Amino acid sequence: MIYRKSRYELNLMKAAGEIVAMAHEAVRDAVKEGITTLELDDIVYKVITQNKAIPTFKGYCGFPASICASVNSQVVHGIPSKDVVLHNGDVISVDIGATYHGFVGDSAWTYPVGDVSDEVKHLLKATEEALFAGIAKMQVNNYLEDVSAAIEDVAIANKLGIVRQYGGHGVGTEMHEDPFLFNYRTGDKGPILKAGTVVAIEPMLNLGCDEVYQLDDGWTVVTADDKPSAHFEHTVAVTNDGPLILTKRD
Ligand code: MG
Ligand code: MG
Repeated sequence: MIYRKSRYELNLMKAAGEIVAMAHEAVRDAVKEGITTLELDDIVYKVITQNKAIPTFKGYCGFPASICASVNSQVVHGIPSKDVVLHNGDVISVDIGATYHGFVGDSAWTYPVGDVSDEVKHLLKATEEALFAGIAKMQVNNYLEDVSAAIEDVAIANKLGIVRQYGGHGVGTEMHEDPFLFNYRTGDKGPILKAGTVVAIEPMLNLGCDEVYQLDDGWTVVTADDKPSAHFEHTVAVTNDGPLILTKRD
């Protein structure tokens, strides 16, 4: 069941999304050689709670932190730790959720640490491009699969692996609502997009193969070939005026 949001609800979701965007700005400023992922988690917790919002991830299915911090070959759901120190040349994907007045904003970004290789720069640029290609398809009367296809096309054109076990999702009062969004074509067109449909679009692309697996900690997902992965995500509403990105600041 897809719950479409009213204009009033979209405004609340935008407020939640702007807090997530502020938290990402703080992370972008803080990411550097020598910082730990636990310190990044603390920075985000403060931004979210100082803005009277709730860190959505903390306690979600038992997740212990406010951010997912996934370094290099970690794809998603990395647990922040005082033992994970960022080094020059790393990439770190930071996923942040904030709940404000009952509505959730969900956004992820992958940040380079210092000087990264040209192939990693290519990975980051192309994955961000895939996100925005998907966002552009969030139009009334498009099919959800149009979003998936746009993401897949960018991944293929850039010769990147596509993570297939995870994807985007509806967002509202729950972080994960219907519909599920594949990052590739499945042959099922999926639902027709209507005004008020809100979806977190989140391509996860790999420098190497598609395959990923979960570590024994029950959370961290890593690439099977140990090559770097990137993750870019915005929460986006379909409106009669086109796509509305909720997780950015005006
Ligand atoms: Mg997310
Ligand atoms: Mg998400």
